[in-house]
Amino acid sequence: MNLLHQPGSGGTTLAKQVLWDMRKTLRCAVLTGATSDITAIAKQVIHLFTAGGQGQQNTVLLLLEDERILENLQDAIIKEIAERNITTHMPVVIILNCVLNGVVRQHRVFARVDGKEIEVCAEQRRKVWKSEDVCFYLGFTIRGPVAYGIQYPSHHGHVFYSGPVRSCTTCANVMESTNWVQVEPVAITKEAPMFSTSPPGRYECRVSGLRWVCKDHVSLQYQFSSWEPHRAMMKSLGYKQGGPLLDVTVISGELEEVQLPHFACFGDDPSFKEKVRVLHVEDCGVSIEQVDEVTRFHVKILHPSFSPKGVLVRSGFPVKAHCDLLLYQAKTAFLTLHAYLVPCDSSVEQNVQVGEDIGN
Ligand SMILES: [Zn+2]
Repeated sequence: MNLLHQPGSGGTTLAKQVLWDMRKTLRCAVLTGATSDITAIAKQVIHLFTAGGQGQQNTVLLLLEDERILENLQDAIIKEIAERNITTHMPVVIILNCVLNGVVRQHRVFARVDGKEIEVCAEQRRKVWKSEDVCFYLGFTIRGPVAYGIQYPSHHGHVFYSGPVRSCTTCANVMESTNWVQVEPVAITKEAPMFSTSPPGRYECRVSGLRWVCKDHVSLQYQFSSWEPHRAMMKSLGYKQGGPLLDVTVISGELEEVQLPHFACFGDDPSFKEKVRVLHVEDCGVSIEQVDEVTRFHVKILHPSFSPKGVLVRSGFPVKAHCDLLLYQAKTAFLTLHAYLVPCDSSVEQNVQVGEDIGN
């Protein structure tokens, strides 16, 4: 039985109330905590069913708060019944479930009900960033069925990424553009290029910070490039690195706009737009280009052509940088922490991560 409800509307409380009301008729149980050992859970369900021996069997009413295990649990219970040669004339278990399974495909959410897929609205669009199996609470509004509290089971811990949380007070007045759909790129390894495909919309890669706007379906491939071959030239022209150097290839489709991430903090300097350029690396050489707009964390380029590009900041005056503090716990007997203060640049952070992986 699936109990459909909005989170916070008391669905789980209602389910527990049902258990309480039924406690004298059925053997009621709530499954909480770790649910990794499905076989052990199935054994406990059967133990509860047969408690008191033959002739004392009674149906178990089990409240499940994690639907992901439902199918495996059903199989495990059937297996346990067969193994223990249980014969009965009544249902062994009634599973009461508060969460639904579904899937996200191309930024659309589908609920799986009775083997069918039904499209539902996502309560929060920003949570629909990856094509993958999900689970959620299903509710109903005037718009029709709505998926609340979408979770990606494969991403425990950092599921609801909503863009970098930055709280720099120095540049709080600098314009920032919002409403970007966060996407997770596909990457085989950390060093391999990242891939993203997207329908029309505004997207931000949560790994690289690259943003793009497209009116049609696009497929992109991108990876971090090294600034090293360009350093001497940049220095002679009076520029320094202001973000990662990104090598982007448009595989199909066309981009209206890209935004390259930068880590410079411009505070209340009104002339900052004059100090920002983009390095464009081509086969025939490199060029330094004007930008269309500078926002708090990004630099905007309209109708971009590609090959590696990265943000430059004019040198010769002090520029503050947004930094991240990275902490790693070394795999040693005693607690050893490695701390890195690095500019907010995903390529730098990735290098630190690679170094830590090797070191450990
Ligand atoms: Zn700042």
